[in-house]
Amino acid sequence: MTIAFDNSWVRDLPGTFLSVQPAPAPAPRLLALNRSLAERLGLDPDALQAEGAEIFSGNRLPEGADPVAQAYAGHQFGGFSPQLGDGRALLMGEILAPDGQRFDIHLKGSGRTPFSRGGDGKAAVGPMLREYLMGEAMAALGIPTTRALAVVATGAPVLREVELPGAVLARVASSHIRVGSFQFFAARGDLGQVRRLLDYTIARHYPDLAGSANPAKALLDAVIARQSRLIAQWMGVGFIHGVMNTDNMALSGETIDYGPCAFMEAYAPGTVFSSIDHTGRYAYANQPLILGWNLARLAEALLPLLDPDQDRAVDIANDLLEGIAARYRAEWVAVMRGKLGLAGAEDGDGALADALLAAMEGQGADWTLTFRRLADAVGGDATTLAPLFADATALRAWLPRWQARLAPDAAARIRAANPAVIPRNHKVEEALAAATAGDMAPFEALLAAIATPFAEAESYMLPAPQGFGRYVTYCGT
Ligand code: AMP
Ligand code: MG
Repeated sequence: MTIAFDNSWVRDLPGTFLSVQPAPAPAPRLLALNRSLAERLGLDPDALQAEGAEIFSGNRLPEGADPVAQAYAGHQFGGFSPQLGDGRALLMGEILAPDGQRFDIHLKGSGRTPFSRGGDGKAAVGPMLREYLMGEAMAALGIPTTRALAVVATGAPVLREVELPGAVLARVASSHIRVGSFQFFAARGDLGQVRRLLDYTIARHYPDLAGSANPAKALLDAVIARQSRLIAQWMGVGFIHGVMNTDNMALSGETIDYGPCAFMEAYAPGTVFSSIDHTGRYAYANQPLILGWNLARLAEALLPLLDPDQDRAVDIANDLLEGIAARYRAEWVAVMRGKLGLAGAEDGDGALADALLAAMEGQGADWTLTFRRLADAVGGDATTLAPLFADATALRAWLPRWQARLAPDAAARIRAANPAVIPRNHKVEEALAAATAGDMAPFEALLAAIATPFAEAESYMLPAPQGFGRYVTYCGT
């Protein structure tokens, strides 16, 4: 099949990538194909069904593909690595969707690159299908995200603690420009490249800002706005990214790089799933703080472009950075107003939401079900809601305050704002374990359920059974 690539990154930003070739896959097999995404991109799903294994394994790249590994740096758990880059991924090319929107088509798990350091450049079936599931869940919840177009089993094993079946993920993103992309060139003092990246980012993601008097300031301000909204949306659905390193934060405002991420079940602010997050740096309730921390790193990378006078540049950056907490809070309160089904907007709405969280904390209250069942309680009947709480005393004290603020059609609004189905940890594990063993049926069933998250599907709504234990996730390597 032909794909009409239009590779603006390679054309416009020489010196920011290295040409690479994907590793051959001995026996590629298409495990999952996102037909509706293919259609949205203007690609023929039937042709991809027939040729996707060869194309997305990297065995036969379509004409016009120009595979490159992109350079980036990043703060990982607070420590700076001046060179990370695509160590097991490549940008195959860009396409323009029928609506004119530009997308990257990117392969992850496609083999070694000059950025691989000690790694093998490979990925396993389980983590690539996890990224597929999580991205589709977020997309269905209306949260900006990269999405999987396909997962192909390569037919070759990858060596982790045990031998696992290898896979390549074909990922679609509105770009792969990361905070770390700017850091890479800023750390080398290559101001020209930072400026070209700035211009490119504005043209691609914030065209309204073209011609701004201070483009760096305008971009920083706009990224703060998009990322503040994104993290507020994550918090609303109980999503924990797990590795909010600066290389995993996209300038587009999309969720990117699904590794050890998971959705919280019982509300607990300190929830951490990642096996490597020993200090809880990326715990649920820390995510808004890390938002500010990461954007401060972006501001640092842009500093010389904010103003030629360093003191003035620092003042501009600080002004914007100091506003993040309030901007995030406003986004979060807006998310919570929707979740709570409130009428209009009042000053006390944030405090009302805080009070519900305080009532949930320590009570084992499932995040998703609590909000969903608020719909049953708009008339004062808490018989489905209260049993979610070990002790519902504080909840019962809160309910009348909330009822006084409800919109006329609150129950319907609450059901439209709060999912019934999220990719619950035990269901994700069950699907990935089966897929790793060759059975795709549980993955397909879970994918179908999370694609319509506001429809009730009982077997996908229950929290993990007691025996599931504390959930631990591992990096997608
Ligand atoms: P991630 O944890 O996936 O965000 O990756 C962080 C960095 O490690 C990126 O530069 C990746 O390209 C690199 N990396 C992760 N896994 C591998 C691997 N198996 N082989 C080579 N590089 C890798
Ligand atoms: Mg990453």
